[in-house]
Amino acid sequence: MSTSDLSITDDRWRAIVENDKSYDGVFLYAVKTTRIFCRPSCKSRPPKRENIRIFTSAEQALAAQFRPCKRCKPTGQRLPDHDWIAGVAEYVSSNYMKDLTLHILAEISHGSPYHLHRTFKRIMHVTPMEYIQRTRLEQAKKLLTCSHQSVAEVGENVGLSNTPYFITLFKKNTGYTPFQYRQLKSKVTQNGGTQHGISNE
Ligand SMILES: [Zn+2]
Repeated sequence: MSTSDLSITDDRWRAIVENDKSYDGVFLYAVKTTRIFCRPSCKSRPPKRENIRIFTSAEQALAAQFRPCKRCKPTGQRLPDHDWIAGVAEYVSSNYMKDLTLHILAEISHGSPYHLHRTFKRIMHVTPMEYIQRTRLEQAKKLLTCSHQSVAEVGENVGLSNTPYFITLFKKNTGYTPFQYRQLKSKVTQNGGTQHGISNE
C-alpha cells in the first residue's frame, strides 16, 4: 500500500469537517494528540489537520496504539455479528420470563428474523428459539431446586405459563417431569448430609 493511500486528502478533510456519513466504512481518522480514532461522521470537534492520521480499518488504528472513540464507536463495524448476537443473548438472559419470539428478538435487535436466525445459529450453534428454551429450562431447574414454588408457578416465572406444555417440554429435555426432578434434587441434597428433618412433606 502506498503512503498516499493513507494521507489526509482534501476530500477526506472535507468529510471529517462536515461529518460526512457516506465516508463511514471508507476510512477512519485518528488524532495524534488525543490518541483517539473516529469515523468521518463523528460529531466531535474537528482536530487540526496536521494532527490527523488516516486508517482504512479499526485494526490498523488499534495496532498503531490509538483508542476507539466512545462517541462514534469506530470498532463496531468490524465485529458486528458477534456484538450483535451477544446483545441478543444478553436480552434473552434477562427477559426469558416474558413473551419472546424470533420476531420480537428481531425487532428489538434491529435485524430481519431470517438474518437473526442464521447469524445466531452460526455464532451460538443453536437457534434463537432453542436458546430461549434452554435458558428457560435452566432457570426452571434452579427454581425447582431452590424454591418452593409450585410447578405451575415455576413455569410461569420462566415464560412457560402453559403448564402442560411446560411439563412436556421439561420432560422431553431432562427425562423427568418437573415434580420428579424436584424430588430427585431434594433427595440428593438430603443424602448429601447437609441437614436432615428439613422436609416435612
Ligand atoms: Zn468519534
